[in-house]
Amino acid sequence: MSQTLAERVTARLRDIPDFPSPAILFKDVTPVLADPEVFGAVIRDMADRRRGSIDVVVGIEARGFIFGAALAHELGVGFVPVRKSGKLPGDTVGLTYDLEYGTATIEIHSDAFVGGERVLLVDDVLATGGTAEAACRLLDQVGATVVAFETLVELAFLPGRQRLAGREIHATVVVP
Ligand code: AMP
Repeated sequence: MSQTLAERVTARLRDIPDFPSPAILFKDVTPVLADPEVFGAVIRDMADRRRGSIDVVVGIEARGFIFGAALAHELGVGFVPVRKSGKLPGDTVGLTYDLEYGTATIEIHSDAFVGGERVLLVDDVLATGGTAEAACRLLDQVGATVVAFETLVELAFLPGRQRLAGREIHATVVVP
């Protein structure tokens, strides 16, 4: 029997224990990117759910740029990056959010949206949901409408989905 997309992606995900710090099991997506058939199938699958309903794809730094830019190209829409503080060259709007220890700030270019754009937000992994939730709040602040969040991998043992309650979320692979 032929493999599902989730099975094909799972076979290409690489678990790296204790990276970047002890007790974190890092989901390395680079073998997915290196396989043109699986990477292409992932992008087409993500795009097929959203054709005609999206104006802009927004990718979260850093691996969200890779999936997001490919997806924007496939959908024939523009791509906007959400970056860590101090990385974007133009005028920015930022949002600071709480991490387990300390805070982080994300930014977008202040002229990236006029308001009312239908946005698809993209990242590689949904873990605690803190980053995606902050990106949604930042996009809400600038008047864009986050239609859905697409991720390659959802770590379902963490509260990411609950943090994004009320948003449409789709993960290619759900790790229980
Ligand atoms: P979070 O805000 O906890 O949902 O973390 C999401 C961000 O951290 C994403 O941009 C992921 O790329 C990265 N990340 C968090 N946990 C992992 C993990 N176990 N493996 C790979 N990337 C992760």
